Amino acid sequence: MAKPSHPNMTAEEFRKWGHAAVDWVADYLADVENNPVLAQVEPGDIRSRLPARAPQKGEDFAAILADLDSIVMPGVTHWQSPNFFAYFPANNSGPSIIGELISAGLGVQGMLWQTSPACTEIEIQVLDWLVEALDLPARFSSSGAGGGVIQDSASSAALCALLAARRRIQGESATVLPSDPRLVAYTSSQAHSSMEKAMMISGLGSAALRPIEVDENFSMRADRLARQIEEDRAAGLQPFFISATVGTTSSLAFDPVALIAEIAQRYGLWLHVDAAMAGTATICPEFRWLNDGIEHADSYCFNPHKWMLTNFDCDCFYVADRQDLISALSVTPEYLRNQASDAGVTDFRDWQIPLGRRFRALKLWFVLRHYGIEGIQSVIRNHIDLTKEMGKWVAGDNRFELLSEPTLNLLCFRLAASDEVNQELLNSLNASGELYLSHTVLDEKYYLRFCVGQGTTERVHVERAWQLILRFAGELTK
Ligand code: PLP
Repeated sequence: MAKPSHPNMTAEEFRKWGHAAVDWVADYLADVENNPVLAQVEPGDIRSRLPARAPQKGEDFAAILADLDSIVMPGVTHWQSPNFFAYFPANNSGPSIIGELISAGLGVQGMLWQTSPACTEIEIQVLDWLVEALDLPARFSSSGAGGGVIQDSASSAALCALLAARRRIQGESATVLPSDPRLVAYTSSQAHSSMEKAMMISGLGSAALRPIEVDENFSMRADRLARQIEEDRAAGLQPFFISATVGTTSSLAFDPVALIAEIAQRYGLWLHVDAAMAGTATICPEFRWLNDGIEHADSYCFNPHKWMLTNFDCDCFYVADRQDLISALSVTPEYLRNQASDAGVTDFRDWQIPLGRRFRALKLWFVLRHYGIEGIQSVIRNHIDLTKEMGKWVAGDNRFELLSEPTLNLLCFRLAASDEVNQELLNSLNASGELYLSHTVLDEKYYLRFCVGQGTTERVHVERAWQLILRFAGELTK
């Protein structure tokens, strides 16, 4: 190797510090449950520990790594703690972290097939594997008109779906002319905020998104959807897009996708299905009912970076007809042209918003190969069983109200007391550092959300969480 003209890290130094870093991560993960789950710092605390300016001269790597413990760790909320029950999980695993490390090492930017054929082809194949493993409709596989691609997030998937839908209904004018103010889109009032954001970014405008009423289970009311579409058509508007949710963020409610698909077909609307967290459960045959109706969806996404042991970021986004997506997102300047593209290979730059892309398929490939489908099934089943058990404890204690029996891994419950008392309960639980829960508001009532999804969460952690909840609730209500 030529002598570097600048202070490069040598291969030997990289080996030394890389090993030290892997040791650090291994120790961190082995001990993560002994950290306060929610970072116990005030705004500005971490920044105040950093010098005002970047160092003029390079520093010793030992000092850089040492600052992980002194500067970074106090400001980390430990998402990988088995006592993390907040939001939806963003779990990781050894094989995923190793895949991420190697992806960084390769430093591949896989915008075109040619800029790293392995990046594109492993992604195509792994996403096809998942079509079969999750029993997704065959039309999402790359062997037909459709296909899958990894996006950074479900939010990007929603935006891409929206743009593809607009391209399909309006043809080329969708990409050339200002957005048509007659276009309207539909989702439930419980859908994730990323849908509204996609409307804002796309230029369609959030006012053109109709939040459809939900029923007592927080699922979209198909009759209200059909009625709203009729009203909009009568008003001279152009309904073109519906986003249904399989597992809403607030309470893991499921929209009636089969009924919604029928309406989408009746009026010729694009149907996107957002199964960001719940989609992973369909790896278990007993949860395949979650896929009911998606055989008619035009696009679908779920996040391995939530529940499939693949560290953030990794969203699998599928389309039934890739041409709509590519036509919506493809711009080809001369400097990107090459023979392989001209010959018709897949260039994933045309399936996403940015041009550049990381080799994210590597970590997903490693996870699937390390665990196998059976390994992932056992993790998912364990989480769901633990949630059900916790649900029984909550239901069996008349000081608490349970929103509903858990279907998957989320439990929403509250103390039978005021919202303020429940808020106080959550604050004191999280301030204890022993666990981390989040909250939502449903039917104007404040609920605590308890979601089981970390790779290392076991019965003992859930039992301890319940004991803590009982203790803090007891102190608040005595
Ligand atoms: N959709 C649903 C149903 C979600 O629960 C979430 C996040 O929790 C998202 C979309 C957004 O996910 P992302 O962070 O991947 O954009």
